Amino acid sequence: MKPDPAPPPVPLCDIQIQYRAQKDEIDAAVLRVLGSGQAILGPEVAAFEKEAAAYCGAAYGVGCGSGTDALVLALHALGVGPGDEVIVPPFTFFATASSVCRVGARPVFADIDPVTFNIDPAQIAAKITNRTRAIIPVHLFGQCCDMDPIRRVADDHRLYVVEDAAQSFGAEYRGVRCGSLGAVSCFSFYPTKNIGTLGDAGLVTTNDPAVAKKLQALRVHGSEVKYYHKYLGYNMRLDAVHAAILRVKLPNVPRWLGQREVAARRYDGLVEKYQLHGFMQRPTARPDRRHVFNQYVVRVPPAHRDPLVKHLKENGIGVEVYYPLALHQQECFRHLDYRTGDFPTSEEATRTVLALPIFPEITEAQQDRVIGVCAAYLQQRLRLAA
Ligand SMILES: *Cc1c(COP(=O)(O)O)cnc(C)c1O
Repeated sequence: MKPDPAPPPVPLCDIQIQYRAQKDEIDAAVLRVLGSGQAILGPEVAAFEKEAAAYCGAAYGVGCGSGTDALVLALHALGVGPGDEVIVPPFTFFATASSVCRVGARPVFADIDPVTFNIDPAQIAAKITNRTRAIIPVHLFGQCCDMDPIRRVADDHRLYVVEDAAQSFGAEYRGVRCGSLGAVSCFSFYPTKNIGTLGDAGLVTTNDPAVAKKLQALRVHGSEVKYYHKYLGYNMRLDAVHAAILRVKLPNVPRWLGQREVAARRYDGLVEKYQLHGFMQRPTARPDRRHVFNQYVVRVPPAHRDPLVKHLKENGIGVEVYYPLALHQQECFRHLDYRTGDFPTSEEATRTVLALPIFPEITEAQQDRVIGVCAAYLQQRLRLAA
């Protein structure tokens, strides 16, 4: 008898499914742009900006080259620059803090809440100095930060709130979608985000017409009138091809977010079914927000994390550690003079987190296999220990 073939691998995220499902529409949209001769900005970008901003409940959307561009543009448009400080969490994607440095300001870290992984509002006030200009709450993994206390402390000290919503398109806080929960909000359409294009793209949203106008100028070398440069701007424009692809995808977002939530609940149930809840801590969705699960991130005891990652990868399961090193521990931020031990909750998270495969189209069988492989790992370990 032949041995059973190895079960098919489960990718961390399968972006090809959405392309295949809408191939005709996406191909037609791309060809429309190619035939239009308008490759950068133009009507396709303007239409996407309008549609995406409307979805987020914001008055203005300004498309740009990436989520990182969005953060740099947002900070610059608000006048954040050299000599200023911006409060950010140390447990986030690199660009949250690098964008602060890009505009010449200094990132000041404030530790996270251990349950949501988001910046802990109670840690912010102690970090405020007379140089502080802004706070960047990062809605990590698909769940909004606790915005009311953050906005309260920001209002008390006249600070701007810049949302890093790169992972949370469609997430809600107390019934309001992110994109209008701060002065300016930043989104990424990197392929693995909640709505992704086949390349790099980003968006800034705001309700302030003056800020929107400045953002529009900054992304085209700081000019409102061609070849007349009001600001020292950037080339951070959005390509029309990506806007066209994103316009095809945008109407599907509500369905995809619903599917992500269903998949997350299924994982919750499977962790229970395989009796893993003592070993594997599931993500917590706070009752006053809508968590849209760009990632399903569990926590396991630190001694087990890396061996479990290895075991899952050996069995064809795509997993990832977001993030293995906190930002205050990064080599390029050494000059900021932080030490390991300064942000214990973030550091603890870097040792315990593990992102399991999640995407709207993930099947029940795939999820069963992911958790089954986790359970097999634990059984093996318990046997070895006995
Ligand atoms: C992806 C991401 C970014 C940057 O977006 P890009 O489009 O990759 O430049 C910024 N912040 C967070 C939290 C992200 O996840």
